[in-house]
Amino acid sequence: MAKKSDLLKKYEQRRDFKKSPEPQGSRLKRKIKHPIFVIQKHDASHLHYDFRLEIDGVLKSWAIPKGPSNNPEEKRLAVETEDHPIAYATFEGVIPEGYGAGTVMVWDIGSYENLRAKKVKKTSMLDCYKEGKFEINLKGKKLHGGYALIRMRFGDNKRNWLFFKIKDEHVDDVYKKLEDKSVLTGRNLKEIARDG
Ligand code: MN
Repeated sequence: MAKKSDLLKKYEQRRDFKKSPEPQGSRLKRKIKHPIFVIQKHDASHLHYDFRLEIDGVLKSWAIPKGPSNNPEEKRLAVETEDHPIAYATFEGVIPEGYGAGTVMVWDIGSYENLRAKKVKKTSMLDCYKEGKFEINLKGKKLHGGYALIRMRFGDNKRNWLFFKIKDEHVDDVYKKLEDKSVLTGRNLKEIARDG
């Protein structure tokens, strides 16, 4: 059994699992070569995309109001939110009430590579988090190649980051329309909401 983690306390405090179908879970440190990332489109009070990276046994999370872009010119605001359990990565469905009420779609899922560890050995994802600078290679079904996530240095709000495509060999992806359907079930938000 993995230990309960302080990192997930906020996640649990915000939710009533008798009323929400969202998964509960503990911090789950896994010895794996390919940690996961997920992007969940979330039609809540404000539509946004939740970007999550498996780091140190949890899913570090950011809400991206405008969604990700495969165009390096488009830098997207990403607001850091509470850590989620790993099990959340495949959660798709309807949160009927309470925090985050609305419909959740698994918009993209896959694995990632820490590109900074390739440049400087032993630069862990936790190091990147502390520094406020990630460079990752995404192997998703929609997003491919290098992406950066950089903490904004100005202002008092340490939760604001910028998420954007790094120019690389995936130039063909630029401006490619990204399908607005679940990569797990092929459903759009309306169909997920209807299925309940
Ligand atoms: Mn959300």
